[in-house]
Amino acid sequence: MKYYSTNRKAPLASLQKAVVKGLAEDRGLYMPERIHKMPKEFFDNIQDMSFRDIAYNVASAFFGEDVDLDALQELVFDTLSFDCPVVKVTDHIYSLELFHGPTLAFKDVGARFMARLLQYFIKTEGKSRVNVLVATSGDTGSAVANGFLGVDGIHVYVLYPKGKVSAIQESQFTTLGKNITAIEVDGVFDDCQALVKSAFMDSELNAHMNLTSANSINVARFLPQAFYYFHAYAQMKKKGLADELVMCVPSGNFGNICAALFGHEMGLPIKRFIAANNANDVFFNYLQTGVYEPKPSLQTLANAMDVGDPSNFARIYDLYGQSHERISSLISGATYSDEQICETMKHCYEETGYILDPHGTCGYRALQENLLPGETGVFCETAHPAKFKETVDAIIGTEVSIPDRLAAFMQGEKKSIPMSKDFNDFKAYLLQQEP
Ligand SMILES: *Cc1c(COP(=O)(O)O)cnc(C)c1O
Repeated sequence: MKYYSTNRKAPLASLQKAVVKGLAEDRGLYMPERIHKMPKEFFDNIQDMSFRDIAYNVASAFFGEDVDLDALQELVFDTLSFDCPVVKVTDHIYSLELFHGPTLAFKDVGARFMARLLQYFIKTEGKSRVNVLVATSGDTGSAVANGFLGVDGIHVYVLYPKGKVSAIQESQFTTLGKNITAIEVDGVFDDCQALVKSAFMDSELNAHMNLTSANSINVARFLPQAFYYFHAYAQMKKKGLADELVMCVPSGNFGNICAALFGHEMGLPIKRFIAANNANDVFFNYLQTGVYEPKPSLQTLANAMDVGDPSNFARIYDLYGQSHERISSLISGATYSDEQICETMKHCYEETGYILDPHGTCGYRALQENLLPGETGVFCETAHPAKFKETVDAIIGTEVSIPDRLAAFMQGEKKSIPMSKDFNDFKAYLLQQEP
């Protein structure tokens, strides 16, 4: 299968090139040329299939032409070492818990899948070592670092702002060692991002080493998230509740909801979608007005969704032929202030006993406000509440317990390389590293 750029000014790319490069030459995002519909028998039997088997079938539809099927199966099974249960919260609202992976974040699946796919290409095509640069405000760094940990032929540099990530998050990428190097930048998140962008554009550096990125612009990172939605549908079908399903996705860069929409294009019977946002309301405004106007991001309690110019909007726009009418008839939006997040989280805990994290809270509230009679809503709970422990404890007035897996990270010894925000320092450092 070939991949085209959303800007349509770059040559078609193979899967390997799309994964290794990340972004097309014209700065567009890669899209698969075709989206295969899943066969009827797949949907007839889906309720009796395991998460892994469902995912392998979906992965074959995307990657089966380009990756040996036995290798693809091994790769999918290795990625999905955990389950994502659907849990009832109220009579009509269910939580799809995407946080049972190694770092308790839904990004674990995409990160691990991408790491293993890159490794497959390095092995089968004899490519030389690849270096992944990733800037993080917290969650992406931990998922990417853990997904790539110990994968031969790939080195990961995680750039994070000194003093600006939580202790739990920092421990998840600074204590690993091996092929993971944490770089503690004396600056803010935007400085980290600028260093990474400058590195990708620097010809001397690119001549010295193969560089790639691991955020959701990469097809290998965002597409595997489609697995979640087929698995959610299967679980709801088993309960006899799949007839009028509304899927609600708390969104930042819109990679996760974009994967859900790809699933829909493959025939997944979801009636409609809701993109739930915090105060960053660029997509919400687009739905109302038809005009897409990026803004600087606002800081909120749901900080993994603090995005003012969501990169995967380009993919959604392209998927529906740039039609505002098609997009707004399938997807609706919601936007919530920090105050609304607090009151909703507290209320949900008091009424149902279910502890939401700040991101999932936006999804839950959007369903509460928008669900029509006869519909059943499923929202993604995108992070374990313990990852935002201080915030959540203060709002619900009780102690969220920290899962063992998370506590184990905090036992490790922190190792990081201090770095200024001056690109020349970062470049000099990289030039001294093994290419
Ligand atoms: C990354 C993230 C999101 C946003 O996902 P996108 O794919 O960027 O839309 C939401 N919640 C949490 C906890 C995240 O880490």
